Amino acid sequence: MYKALFFDLSGVLYDGTQAIPGAVEAIAQAQASDLEIRFVTNTSRKTCAQIYHDLTQLGFKIHLRQIYTAPAAVKALVKQRQWRPYCLLHQNIRSEFSDIDQSQPNAVLIADAEEGFCYRALDFAFQLCQSGAPLIGIGRNRYFKLGGQLHLDAGPFIQAIEYAAATEAIIVGKPSVEFFAQVVASTAAPAEETLMVGDDVFGDVEGALNAGLQACLVKTGKYQPGDEHLVDKPFRCVDSVVEAVDIALSGQN
Ligand SMILES: [Mg+2]
Repeated sequence: MYKALFFDLSGVLYDGTQAIPGAVEAIAQAQASDLEIRFVTNTSRKTCAQIYHDLTQLGFKIHLRQIYTAPAAVKALVKQRQWRPYCLLHQNIRSEFSDIDQSQPNAVLIADAEEGFCYRALDFAFQLCQSGAPLIGIGRNRYFKLGGQLHLDAGPFIQAIEYAAATEAIIVGKPSVEFFAQVVASTAAPAEETLMVGDDVFGDVEGALNAGLQACLVKTGKYQPGDEHLVDKPFRCVDSVVEAVDIALSGQN
């Protein structure tokens, strides 16, 4: 029996600007059940309010408090540690960090900055880390899918700075075990009775398994044939979120 059901967003509920066929109904079914529902995303191109607005526009019945984003978690960590980060962020979420002191930076924060990943910015990030500033990454995703194509995500840029400055990033968001644990702690369910549904075999599936959750890979979004063989731990693999919800609701374990 599952007690909680976590969903990744992009590639699971929608692809680009279209809902995955049957996903709206599947989420409605899940919301009507006794399962605790959470939406867990690394996206750093939208604010939480934008995510909620876009999902609602597509017809999804969700609650704002069910959404857990990596940028919100990283902001909490930055405040707690009193870091003044040099931020490589997408312009859409810069406003979310406007109340964080970014003067005389003593840390580096890298998210999916898109056009912000220029040589000058990356070089400055490298120099700070080389001098001992901690490197914080929002997710470690290798790529995401948009407009039918795969695109570079934040992971490769975080790894470039790690390589150059011989440092190890603190990753906030999937696949961080702490991040999954944080979302699990927001429910009354134990990790082992929680099912994470995602299209990223590393960020969603391997991350969830490492955190003690169960996992289900969907063959939509960024899924590539053969992904199910890339992680050496048992998990489910299904056609789409519709089948994943069916499994969770039928209580199969
Ligand atoms: Mg995804």
